[in-house]
Amino acid sequence: MDMTSPGRPADRFLASTHEVTNVARELVDYNLYREDAALVEAVRREGAAWADDALARFGALVGRAEYLELGALANRFPPELDSHDRFGNRVDLVRFHPAYHALMKTAIEHGLHSSPWTDPKPGAHVARAAHFYLHTQVEAGHGCPITMTFASLPSLRTTPALAGLWEPKVTARVYDPRNVPDAAKQGLTVGMAMTEKQGGSDVRANTTRAHPIGAEGPGEPYELVGHKFFVSAPMCDAFLVLAQAKAGLTCFLLPRWRPDGTKNPLQLLRLKRKMGNVSNASSETELRGALAWMLGEPGHGVRTIIEMVAMTRFDCMVGSSAGQRAAVAQALHHCSLRSAFGALLNRQPLMQNVLADLVLESEGALALTMRMARALDQRADPHEDLLARLCTPIGKYWICKRTPNHAYEAMECIGGSGVMEDSPMPRLFRESPVNAIWEGSGNVQCLDVLRAMRRTPAVVDAFFAELAPARGASARLDRWVVDLQRDLGDEDDAEYRARGVVDRMALALQAALLVRHAPAAVADAFCASRLDSAGPRNYGTLPSGADCAAIIARATPRA
Ligand SMILES: Cc1cc2nc3c(=O)[nH]c(=O)nc-3n(C[C@H](O)[C@H](O)[C@H](O)COP(=O)(O)OP(=O)(O)OC[C@H]3O[C@@H](n4cnc5c(N)ncnc54)[C@H](O)[C@@H]3O)c2cc1C
Repeated sequence: MDMTSPGRPADRFLASTHEVTNVARELVDYNLYREDAALVEAVRREGAAWADDALARFGALVGRAEYLELGALANRFPPELDSHDRFGNRVDLVRFHPAYHALMKTAIEHGLHSSPWTDPKPGAHVARAAHFYLHTQVEAGHGCPITMTFASLPSLRTTPALAGLWEPKVTARVYDPRNVPDAAKQGLTVGMAMTEKQGGSDVRANTTRAHPIGAEGPGEPYELVGHKFFVSAPMCDAFLVLAQAKAGLTCFLLPRWRPDGTKNPLQLLRLKRKMGNVSNASSETELRGALAWMLGEPGHGVRTIIEMVAMTRFDCMVGSSAGQRAAVAQALHHCSLRSAFGALLNRQPLMQNVLADLVLESEGALALTMRMARALDQRADPHEDLLARLCTPIGKYWICKRTPNHAYEAMECIGGSGVMEDSPMPRLFRESPVNAIWEGSGNVQCLDVLRAMRRTPAVVDAFFAELAPARGASARLDRWVVDLQRDLGDEDDAEYRARGVVDRMALALQAALLVRHAPAAVADAFCASRLDSAGPRNYGTLPSGADCAAIIARATPRA
């Protein structure tokens, strides 16, 4: 009998049930930098054209399929805490999946934690922000210790004796995750511990106490007793910690190990079970006489640590802009391959409206973020310094707050498969609220904007000076700015109305940047859709006349 002849019964029963057609494929093996026109333009515009080649190499590296997989693995296998070893010794060891370590290694070896400090030059912050933006699209959780290490430098430098000891290893491009004393390592990471159970925004409520061991003052050793309710990346080699000293709330630098090689009792009680940011360990801790050196002036803890917090807030802008880019890239890619009712999704008018609107949001977020990166590069210029002071909280509030709905809409573009855990979308969605909440939640940012305007009125002049070059390019924007100018002077109920004011300031900044620098299709649609008073709107409600096809084409990555 001829077993290969067609039509035998087994063939019929084993016949494939269907052909898989009309589905997308993974968005992998593409250059995250080169395929992002808005990013390439922003890097050049804001002063880091010299980094173009390096960013292109980095974009190719992190866009490889096997590299993107690291992001999924680091989140599928979350960190675990071993408080003690099997013999009963306290070890406070957090174990991570190798994928997490691989991401940390790349980030540190590329200087994402330190390049503007080790190689300060025009565009250094812009180049570093662009690298961080690309790497965050692969995975956001590891960005927490990278950001904190990066951000710790300005605070460390308030006390030269400590900076001299710590800065070389904190900025070194060496990742050493071992749970051993800092003396045994060539590269160190730094975290921060401010939040306590009774207060996170209002750290003045901190009850952790600092007791001097001998002499008192900056650089001197103390013992800290108390607790910290959120300590992320607890495997860091040192932490900036707030505690009450005689003079009031003060900042301290607390190492994980004492110089004598014994464990410093910053004890990890448990790891938080988080809805997002899963690859990053966040712990609850107790400080049982932990050694720490005073950083900055006694009683000026907030002033000292705010140097660090300003940088972490900036990185929240970068991170949420990256989240938006990652989400819209997935949506654009999917809709360029999937058809429904006889046409590709990205050719259908209503889907074009949604996709283009998501792109506009992401372009506005990126433009503002990279503009602030330049302000950080040029802080010696008073205008840039004032801008950084005012517009970091504006951008942190606005961009982070816009991200969750953006992630959800991008997920919906993909349909049911976008909800599945083997798609990147659930991870992007669960990550999306985090930046808005930590490092000063939304209201706290808006109140900080008010504080800046009241204490340093020159920030308001700097803000309008920044908008001035855009005057005349869009009648809508001109009207928006005039109205804003009038309303900013109104102090009645200022705190109550703060969100509304900051929303308008953020949109003015974004629109001004886009009308000056983005293609007309992007700038026109942004102004037409965002600068009106029609009230709440969903994505996909761009007014008629928007050149959606051009907006979509510019942003769609070619894998
Ligand atoms: C994943 C994750 C990791 C974290 N890691 C760290 C870490 O490593 N180190 C660390 O120190 N902290 C960390 N935090 C804590 C975080 O910074 C705090 O949760 C945050 O600052 C808010 O503090 P809270 O939770 O005590 O909320 P609260 O301070 O109680 O605030 C609750 C709400 O009230 C609002 N609010 C506060 N004051 C006002 C006001 N005057 N007017 C109007 N509204 C107001 C806030 O905006 C917020 O929406 C982490 C948090 C998360 C989610």
